[in-house]
Amino acid sequence: MNLPEPERIAGRYAHELSGGMAQRVAIAMALGGEPELLIADEPTTALDATVQAEVLDLLGRLQREHGMAILLISHAWKVIARMCRRTYVMYAGHIVESAAATDMFERPLHPYTAGLLASTPSRATPREPLPTIPGTVPAPSAWPHGCHFAPRCELATTDCEAAPIPLLEPTADRYTRCLRHTELSTLTNGGDRDRTTSGRP
Ligand code: SF4
Repeated sequence: MNLPEPERIAGRYAHELSGGMAQRVAIAMALGGEPELLIADEPTTALDATVQAEVLDLLGRLQREHGMAILLISHAWKVIARMCRRTYVMYAGHIVESAAATDMFERPLHPYTAGLLASTPSRATPREPLPTIPGTVPAPSAWPHGCHFAPRCELATTDCEAAPIPLLEPTADRYTRCLRHTELSTLTNGGDRDRTTSGRP
């Protein structure tokens, strides 16, 4: 784990470790059972940029050396771009889009993905407000019968609200839970911009 004096650190209390050290210890504990799959839920949250890069490098090296898979859960597109080959976007209990990471960054096929990417500061237009997705995620008890994203979606129609939306495969190895994925370029909060970026957040 690249920790200095690991024997001494093993004898310390958690509050005596820095965030980066504590994260390394947590990863070491997770690897103790030699897993084939490591589930890393927000592994770099609250770490500064330098320590975040170190932890991600460490995870990448361990993944290669141990031949294990990593399921990385993150809200940070930059972390996803750096670490992931395949990306799944979840909204209100559903996978709403799935694709190779680079394909999704170049051309999202769900309005929620497009909105998330458009709200990435590195994609912002200088001197213009950062786009946001209106509304909030509904509680599970209030999930709509049809598309769960419909109350927040610019493209929603009555068809979207009539029945649950299946996961569609419009092109090979690309999946979306959106009936109107071909019309994303008409979105005012990110559709056009997302299609013209370089494939990275
Ligand atoms: S199915 Fe309809 S409401 Fe749901 S994301 Fe697509 S356009 Fe929007």
